[in-house]
Amino acid sequence: MNVQQIMQELERKHPGESEYLQAVREVLISVQDVYNQHPEFERAKLIERLIEPERIITFRVPWVDDKGEVHVNLGYRVQFNSAIGPYKGGLRFHSSVNLSILKFLGFEQTFKNALTTLPMGGAKGGSDFSIRGRSDAEVMRFCQAFMAELYHYIGPDEDVPAGDIGVGGREIGYLFGAYKKLTHQWNGVITGKGLEWGGSRIRPEATGFGALYFVSQMMATHDLDLKGKTVALSGFGNVAWGAATKATQLGAKVITISGPDGYIYDSEGISGEKIDYMLELRSSGNDVCQPYADEFPGSQFFPGKKPWEQKADVYLTCATQNELNGDDAAKILARHPLCVAEVSNMGCTEEATKAFIAARQLFAPGKAVNAGGVATSGLEMTQNSIRLHWSAEEVDKELHKIMHSIHEQCVRYGKEPDGYVNYVKGANIAGFMKVANAMMAQGIV
Ligand code: GLU
Repeated sequence: MNVQQIMQELERKHPGESEYLQAVREVLISVQDVYNQHPEFERAKLIERLIEPERIITFRVPWVDDKGEVHVNLGYRVQFNSAIGPYKGGLRFHSSVNLSILKFLGFEQTFKNALTTLPMGGAKGGSDFSIRGRSDAEVMRFCQAFMAELYHYIGPDEDVPAGDIGVGGREIGYLFGAYKKLTHQWNGVITGKGLEWGGSRIRPEATGFGALYFVSQMMATHDLDLKGKTVALSGFGNVAWGAATKATQLGAKVITISGPDGYIYDSEGISGEKIDYMLELRSSGNDVCQPYADEFPGSQFFPGKKPWEQKADVYLTCATQNELNGDDAAKILARHPLCVAEVSNMGCTEEATKAFIAARQLFAPGKAVNAGGVATSGLEMTQNSIRLHWSAEEVDKELHKIMHSIHEQCVRYGKEPDGYVNYVKGANIAGFMKVANAMMAQGIV
């Protein structure tokens, strides 16, 4: 494989799709050596097939706001790869959503899902609709309009969406209700459902919990311990909430959270009622930092700034893609942290990732660290299929096992001659090999 040539061709076909091209480039660089040991991959044009989504569905979503005004948003589902299971991946509702972002997310999801050890293909979808400032009734009407088109293309053995940025428990409820009304079917077609109607225990917390299990293991493997350490994290949504909760339970002190308006530094630690307050902020649809600073006077609000400027032992990106850039990485590296991990999908820019690896920083990528979310979605699908509910202990035990296995795979494929574990390379190769072998077995399709 000639990475440069493949990337040039991809850029020609999809000009300007920067996030998608970035995600593909990172994986190709990681897997090229392994790939070149398999001439049968080259003959089967495996990479050329793997980097293009199997199918993209786009549609318009017309809906009426509370004042009677009509809006037209764009809706998408990128069904990236179904080699190892039905398409699986979240829906993102955010004004920044476009095809490049959903293609990068679907591509990442394919390898992430492969790492979970569960039979799930990769997909992503969503809309440029933003829940910010919208009433409950508006969100419901939007979800119904979105599902009125999407339901044609999803199903429990075909494609199983879930949440992502802007799509939490409330939105999943409206989407599921609309699907059921349109199809007359009650099945496990969406994950992240409420506990009383088919959801799995631990699913809301799973991305953050799984991330902290992974980070703990990364640290333990390097004779480090999270206990008593400070954690700087970004975000204020579901992922940041789960990560802050588990980090606190494991004895660490979370000192930052962030929103679109800046970040909060709280030297006393963001725990207990402060963590619960994050969830209230998320559903309020408003800015988060100022209300937090007003509610908890010991904290400091830094408008327009990122939490990466604070000193901490552990840094976790929990907000969105490319939220930590080369300058941020330089600042973080100067403080010699114990561990840096992406919990958001592709939380670091290419420059930042390169800087961490070049400095031999203990660092892991989102597709390994945040896989606990989709893994628990997989466990929700299992429970729906067998029509049973597992206890929180059972789900948590499975989640532990899965995160442990992902860590093992990263170490197996990522250990370099100098002993450094390159988790980026490890995760990419492990995920890639599983998908590649399945695609080879299934012929040219
Ligand atoms: N959006 C989440 C992710 O990035 C979860 C997807 C799912 O549960 O299907 O992995």
